[in-house]
Amino acid sequence: MLTLTKIWTEEKIRDIIRHLDEKTGLGGATLPIAFNSYGNRLGYYRYVEPKAFGFNRKFFDDPSTGEAEVIDVIRHEYAHYYVDVTNLELFVGHSRRETSHGDNWKWACKMVGADPTRCHNAALFMGKIWSDKDAMAAYNASDIPKCDIIPYLKRWNAVPINVDTANKINARIKERNPDSYYEIGDEVLHPERGFGFVHDTIPYDYFAQKVYVHFEDGSSSVFTAPEICKIVDGVAVTYRRK
Ligand SMILES: [Zn+2]
Repeated sequence: MLTLTKIWTEEKIRDIIRHLDEKTGLGGATLPIAFNSYGNRLGYYRYVEPKAFGFNRKFFDDPSTGEAEVIDVIRHEYAHYYVDVTNLELFVGHSRRETSHGDNWKWACKMVGADPTRCHNAALFMGKIWSDKDAMAAYNASDIPKCDIIPYLKRWNAVPINVDTANKINARIKERNPDSYYEIGDEVLHPERGFGFVHDTIPYDYFAQKVYVHFEDGSSSVFTAPEICKIVDGVAVTYRRK
């Protein structure tokens, strides 16, 4: 078996965090990383300034601790960081931080490939076949999708949904209402802003998309499909729910 990281230096951990940053667009690798060797806590993320990651030296160095486990602990704490810097509770689950392992944290776990259980579950890793390929993928974060989360939240005021689900919803909207279904490059007319082109879309609900439009004056905004008209064969078509 390939042993990538049996000695867990701060450098190695920071490397793993940097690879996660490449996927999330965040800056976790700039935070301090502390080690301690006491207690049962395997890791922590400190929300208050100075923000930092901390890991349990004893657990990391224990020969019975697998690399997959260590990487999961790092990702678990990274998910806390993710929730913190994106204010994810505004978009997923709780309106306040009632618990640090709520729906928003679980959602972040999905985005960073962490096991979304509150306590580290050693049993989960006991039967795990950890191939060189798995190890490499986890180390490089090549097993998780790329999503620049802060610009995404800023633009859409919503979290991304799974690609397959988005495709299915889009197909439904297109079938039901082709004249109000938008693709990148479509021309649109807004009653006040004038003509523009579709730069990006996401499903809004089962009937309409959210559409990001660049206007001729150089400005851009997000609209729901009913707020704009699509130019079809030179004619502006008003949205009608079907
Ligand atoms: Zn936690």
